[in-house]
Amino acid sequence: MINHISKDILAEMVHLRRHLHQYPELSGQEHQTLAFIRSQLEQLSIPFTTYENGGICATIGKGDSAIGIRADIDALSIEEKTGLPYASQNIGVMHACGHDIHTAVLLGLARLLKKEEATLPAMVKLFFQPAEETVGGAKVMVEGGCMEGPQVERVLALHVDPTLPVGTASFLPGKMNAAVIELDIAIHGKSCHGAHPEMGVDAIAAAAQIISALQLIPSRFTAPTEPVVITIGKIQGGTGRNIVAGEVHLQGTVRVLDKKTGDQVKHLIRQTVQGTAAALGAEAEVALTDDYPALINHAVISLQMAELARELMGKENVVMMDAPSMGADDFAYFTQAAPGCYFNIGTAAPGTAPQSLHSEHFAPDEGCMQVGLALLHAGVQAYMETKK
Ligand SMILES: [Zn+2]
Ligand SMILES: [Zn+2]
Repeated sequence: MINHISKDILAEMVHLRRHLHQYPELSGQEHQTLAFIRSQLEQLSIPFTTYENGGICATIGKGDSAIGIRADIDALSIEEKTGLPYASQNIGVMHACGHDIHTAVLLGLARLLKKEEATLPAMVKLFFQPAEETVGGAKVMVEGGCMEGPQVERVLALHVDPTLPVGTASFLPGKMNAAVIELDIAIHGKSCHGAHPEMGVDAIAAAAQIISALQLIPSRFTAPTEPVVITIGKIQGGTGRNIVAGEVHLQGTVRVLDKKTGDQVKHLIRQTVQGTAAALGAEAEVALTDDYPALINHAVISLQMAELARELMGKENVVMMDAPSMGADDFAYFTQAAPGCYFNIGTAAPGTAPQSLHSEHFAPDEGCMQVGLALLHAGVQAYMETKK
């Protein structure tokens, strides 16, 4: 059972989490949060290095190999409506994705492992990573060398999940989260009087055809068994009701579960947009920018983590997910550099209405931190067993 974790550490995690929750900071602006983490590490006499984006790698133990555990630390531009006594003090900013929980659990793990430091046959690196929600702070840390010296051989991370009850965890070996490709399209037509469309080239009419044609890619050009999402989330164009628009700009997001499908879909998008625009006499420019890569869980490590969870929590509290999410997480940069497992811990309090992440009402049951800490600690111990 998970009761082996001392009451002191549990109380400390709640205390740390409530402080972090009260002072959330947006991605790339986590100055106070990082200073708070550094001061906690200093109090525990845990050495750390920092990266270009302020990200922190704390190290416990010695050795020529390491396991890395990641917590993301950023918050969202949401006005909190939970009414909790420790609600956000920073107007318009809220820890609505549970990164306060992730950070507090990692600080709890730091405390726990520091006590065991002398017995550890390899190093533990604790990654406190900024800017998960926006620009991929993980990439900066990985490119900055956090996976080397000593080499990180395995990575772990958890995320809160309000759709699961507190006291449960879920795992998925293999494809876990989608890769993101940003899509920008500019359609150039020719503006003219709305009563005489034959005099111009209607960029809005072209945009309408392009948006519809893009949806044929997932339904007609890629295998139905391979998930592809193409969402146009923003459209801008036109100047007045009686003027044929000369210019339309579209912005969207593309989600796929592997690079091969991503490359295929990028080619199909270019072909579809250019061909459709040309058929209507318009011209189009397409920009496709790779964002977060797909997050692929290592099968053996994920199955091992699920087994450890069954031992700790009982098999009725461990869920094996049957499908990946088309959402993304930049922990994928860590799993590109070393095999690893990203798993979810339930946060729904018994008898409460279902909640969602990124909601102004998101209020996770803090009992989830005990589960998170126990699982990460067991994951570290399992890695250390391979080093003895
Ligand atoms: Zn989020
Ligand atoms: Zn998140």
